[in-house]
Amino acid sequence: MGAMAGALAISANAAVNVIPKPSFVDEREGFFQIQGRITDNVRFVQEANIPAESYRLIVAPAGIYIASSDEAGKFYAMQTLRQLISEDGKVPCVTIDDTPRFKWRGILFDDCRHFFGKEELKKTINAMALNKLNVLHWHLTEDQGWRIEIKKYPRLTDIGSVRPGSPLPVVLKTPGNEDHWENNNIPYGPCYYTQEDVKEIVEYAAKRHITVVPEIELPGHALAAISAYPELGCTGEQFEPWCRWGVSEHIYCGGNDATIKFLEDVLDEVCELFPGPFIHIGGDEAPKTVWATCPKCQKRIADLGLKGEEGLQGWMTDHFTKYLAAKGKRAIGWDEVLDGEPGKDTIIMSWRGPQGGIKAAARGNDAVMCPVDPCYIDNPQGLKDDPYEYINYGFQATLERCYSFNPTAGIPDDQAGHILGGQGNNWSEYTWNGSELEWKMWPRMCALAECLWTQPENKSWECFKARIPAMRQRLIRELHINCAPVE
Ligand SMILES: [Zn+2]
Repeated sequence: MGAMAGALAISANAAVNVIPKPSFVDEREGFFQIQGRITDNVRFVQEANIPAESYRLIVAPAGIYIASSDEAGKFYAMQTLRQLISEDGKVPCVTIDDTPRFKWRGILFDDCRHFFGKEELKKTINAMALNKLNVLHWHLTEDQGWRIEIKKYPRLTDIGSVRPGSPLPVVLKTPGNEDHWENNNIPYGPCYYTQEDVKEIVEYAAKRHITVVPEIELPGHALAAISAYPELGCTGEQFEPWCRWGVSEHIYCGGNDATIKFLEDVLDEVCELFPGPFIHIGGDEAPKTVWATCPKCQKRIADLGLKGEEGLQGWMTDHFTKYLAAKGKRAIGWDEVLDGEPGKDTIIMSWRGPQGGIKAAARGNDAVMCPVDPCYIDNPQGLKDDPYEYINYGFQATLERCYSFNPTAGIPDDQAGHILGGQGNNWSEYTWNGSELEWKMWPRMCALAECLWTQPENKSWECFKARIPAMRQRLIRELHINCAPVE
């Protein structure tokens, strides 16, 4: 009688409460009582006909059974199981069949504008794993800082990882005067990852079935590198890593063979460090003002019959896509690279809106969707009192708005296969430390994770709202994440 009453209480109280929501859930009465370590209670079976990353989880009073065809599926079953266990070690009886909607479920981590370090990366990776996110897009080079050790070019980190100051943290820009930035004049750096650090992070992520995709920006967002090696730019001028936010017009010289060789050398070392199949080569926000008057750039355009400066960027994208392909890697570029008419192998990351991804899919390129609205989670989240709300690009990326994300919106069915998935982008101009970084990421990344894992017909904002408080508590208690409230 006591056991039955307990079973009914579990069934009533501990409704299956999992994020992202699984494909199929059949909940029954009763529970399994965990004794000792979870893994000792669980029987694993490999079933070849279960799709990649997918699993079946059966919980019965006598035991727990997990089937998958691969290690990732098994891992995700365990993440679901973690969320089912009550504080007293009871797991409700249930059958779950689960499979992800998209294979790219990511977070962009910007370590350049501010630097967060290995422990913060590991915390992020742990929270990603719990939410079945599987791509860490690691933004490592910028106007404001170069953050990865390259053995052949030590000045990249000696010089490029230190900027003489940063914009003041409150009033950053004089309205109407884009060029006026108040500088705190406090040197920021040196801060970067050694190659040993990179290997440690890549390995830590791999154990959690997360692929790390490094981003080495070209031809723009390059002022830190040009400060270290002025000959990489068009003018040869000596600069310092930038002390303001925005986009520098001083970009890599596209006409200088030595600059192309430098970038190849950098990519050689990067490809060795990152065993995953993708290398992001940036391509966004590259002003062509300096190229327009650079003799070397103009000569390359004339010699190759390129369509002006956009054609020169297109040539660079094409060159490095092929260079990486020869090393077995696929190049990714921000949606601006479409202006240079890239080859079909280049993956397009659509950020200025969904249009880049729509255009990419129509011309036969694969795409990852991360439109500013709602995927830029450095935007305000619409809380009543948000201590970390500094900027507003004209909308609030509320939890509900994030939950409305559909990566294939506007994509014809026969092109939807080109959409690999999507990601939340957490740019760090206005994020000074790890605590703020976490606040902006969570719980909004839980909402985006469900958009990327769960089929649209299984999604419901009301249902998500009911499930998110438990996940929030788990992020806070188990992973020590500074998770924003749910209002
Ligand atoms: Zn040039």
